[in-house]
Amino acid sequence: MLKIEPDIAFKKALKRNGGASLNECIQCGTCSVVCSLAPDDRPFPRKEMIWAAWGLPGKLLANPDIWLCHQCGDCSTHCPRGVKPADVLSSIRLLSYRHYARPSFFWSLANKPAWLPIAVLFPTIIISLILFLAGTFAIPEGEVNYAAFFPHAWLNSSFTLITLLAYGMAAVGFVRFWNDLKAAFPERKPTIGFWRSLWQVKGDMLLHNRFGECTAQRSRKVAHLLVFYGFVLLLLVTAYAIVAAITHNYPLTRFNPFKIVGNIAALMLTIGLCIMLINRLKKSDIYGNSNYSDWLLLISMFLLTISGIVVQTARFLDWGWAYYLYFFHLVCVWFVIIYLPYTKFAHMVYRVLALTFANSIGRR
Ligand code: SF4
Ligand code: SF4
Repeated sequence: MLKIEPDIAFKKALKRNGGASLNECIQCGTCSVVCSLAPDDRPFPRKEMIWAAWGLPGKLLANPDIWLCHQCGDCSTHCPRGVKPADVLSSIRLLSYRHYARPSFFWSLANKPAWLPIAVLFPTIIISLILFLAGTFAIPEGEVNYAAFFPHAWLNSSFTLITLLAYGMAAVGFVRFWNDLKAAFPERKPTIGFWRSLWQVKGDMLLHNRFGECTAQRSRKVAHLLVFYGFVLLLLVTAYAIVAAITHNYPLTRFNPFKIVGNIAALMLTIGLCIMLINRLKKSDIYGNSNYSDWLLLISMFLLTISGIVVQTARFLDWGWAYYLYFFHLVCVWFVIIYLPYTKFAHMVYRVLALTFANSIGRR
């Protein structure tokens, strides 16, 4: 006999973060039938709905199916009870970040509205401290030169070190997640190795193939591709800028090919983020209820992109308040890049791991 031991605190957290209607589910199964991504064998999200209603984190957090869902909203659109299972799965994923992220204090920083002032203050203090140690904690005189305010050696070494620290701690969570996935399916041993399976799911990652199977939110695939490739291009340009700062003259001129690619990437990000923002604001019936974490990620990415464009313009036009904008831009960088393992952005890693695992055990 299976003994059910509900975790009431977990269920309350699910309801707070987007799963408010989960008790309304009557287990009709319509959601699993309309979901084009659910496997035939033990499809989702009906079974997740009953586990959520029973408050069973053990069943949900190490469940690869919550990551096979791409939150297309087809199930929510067709649910006869208006339950929005897509939002419930999104809420489960959010609690997965909390469960696996270490230290969990950073998850609270990045996901609780009451902690927002501290989340902003934290990078502000650390960046100020680095500037103080570099001896440049003052607005420089003369033409705008960001290197005079934050020397490249200090900027690159400090931000790289902090990012590595944050991602190193996150890696512990990723390993725990992977081990939990294996433990959740003891009867289904992987038939292929990790790297081979990862290679086989590359289409899902690079082309977002599975998004194309959703019907309720068609513009989502375009928006995600624009944001994904815009972000990847910006990371490559940033890596080049770090090398350029070490090996030859910096900053880059406005006609440098990498500068042009960076601006194209910023444009891709802006368009993709605008589509996401508009969809969330205007089509909440289809796109589901957006919680604080959804908005924080969207807004911080938007501010990062816009402030990057403004900071560049401020340098070329020699604006007096360029350094304050630059400081704000660095805080935005912190929010998106350094807080990444604790925000919804971490889905990039968890989803890839879950897809790789599911593929390795033949669950497609
Ligand atoms: S369609 Fe709605 S009511 Fe039916 S099982 Fe899914 S969530 Fe529950
Ligand atoms: S949101 Fe889309 S992918 Fe996720 S369970 Fe519902 S129908 Fe399936």
